[in-house]
Amino acid sequence: MLTVLFSAPARRWAEYEAPLTTALAEAGIAARLVTKADRPGDVDYIVYAPNGGLEDFTPFTGCRAVLSLWAGVETIVTNRTLTQPLCRMVDAGLEEGMVEWVTGHVLRHHLGLDRYILNADRTWAPQVPPLARDRRVAVLGLGALGRASAEALAALRFRVLGWSRTARDIPGIDCRHGPDGLRAVLSQAEIVVLLLPLTAETEGLMDAERLGWLPQGAVLLNPGRGALIDDDALLAALDRGQVGHATLDVFRVEPLPEGHPFWAHSQVTVTPHIASETRATTAARVVAENIRRGEAGEPFLYLVDRDRGY
Ligand code: NAP
Repeated sequence: MLTVLFSAPARRWAEYEAPLTTALAEAGIAARLVTKADRPGDVDYIVYAPNGGLEDFTPFTGCRAVLSLWAGVETIVTNRTLTQPLCRMVDAGLEEGMVEWVTGHVLRHHLGLDRYILNADRTWAPQVPPLARDRRVAVLGLGALGRASAEALAALRFRVLGWSRTARDIPGIDCRHGPDGLRAVLSQAEIVVLLLPLTAETEGLMDAERLGWLPQGAVLLNPGRGALIDDDALLAALDRGQVGHATLDVFRVEPLPEGHPFWAHSQVTVTPHIASETRATTAARVVAENIRRGEAGEPFLYLVDRDRGY
């Protein structure tokens, strides 16, 4: 019988206990799910989310893998006490939610919906938007979430540019990569979606120089991580109209502090880190499959490269 430690904020246990129990049983794994490890050395796997109180992995001497419930692993990937394999979450529910958030917010800006929704003085001022086929949208990050979002936008016929660290070939997406590809992508993008992980390389990526590569009035959507953006540079770019609007879901400090200028800026929309969430039913199957693999001596899915940071 395996021991699986569920280490996440307490409220998550109510959400995950039943789906994890079912998924482990369906995968043929006999496991004892616990939320507290009396004998850490006996724990075989850790299901992990930040803010669950676990920071020192040293006592978990028998642990075969740490299975993150989050796609973004920036808070744990640099933890020096973690020597076990770390897997991030790739979940169908998470992916679907992100596709909905991204397409919804791209369509808001593409169609100019605010013009009619916020039309307080009831002005009859028709402005027909271009077709999606004439709108260039860039997606930075072509991993699980970026690729799914880029493909959904392409299915709506947007002209989609994508950017990643290594070369990608995705039908219907104009894929670029590396530092040279970034300028080519940003300089064409009317709407930019950030779906990069936060790493030493991506921190502060959208600084004054890169924001300056955007066409005047471009829209920035950030459902990735707050620290991808230099906040002051973005505020300056908004004030001079280089960036026409920013819709931000993630922030350097969360919750976004009350006095932060993003709250008050007329051209900023704040959503409170809700772009997408791991869904317990689908995620539990991913966790169970990885435990099955671990026990069968098969390679883990979605293994994090600790040097790369994602
Ligand atoms: P992923 O599958 O690991 O994909 C990451 C993508 O970013 C890959 O295409 C990768 O390039 C690219 N990348 C990484 N470093 C790069 C660099 N230095 N230059 C250019 N491209 C780089 O990640 P994911 O599952 O799609 O998730 C992306 C991020 O979304 C997460 O890390 C998390 O921060 C965020 N997220 C947010 C929410 C929310 O609710 N707001 C929810 C879930 C996740 P390669 O293809 O070459 O490897």
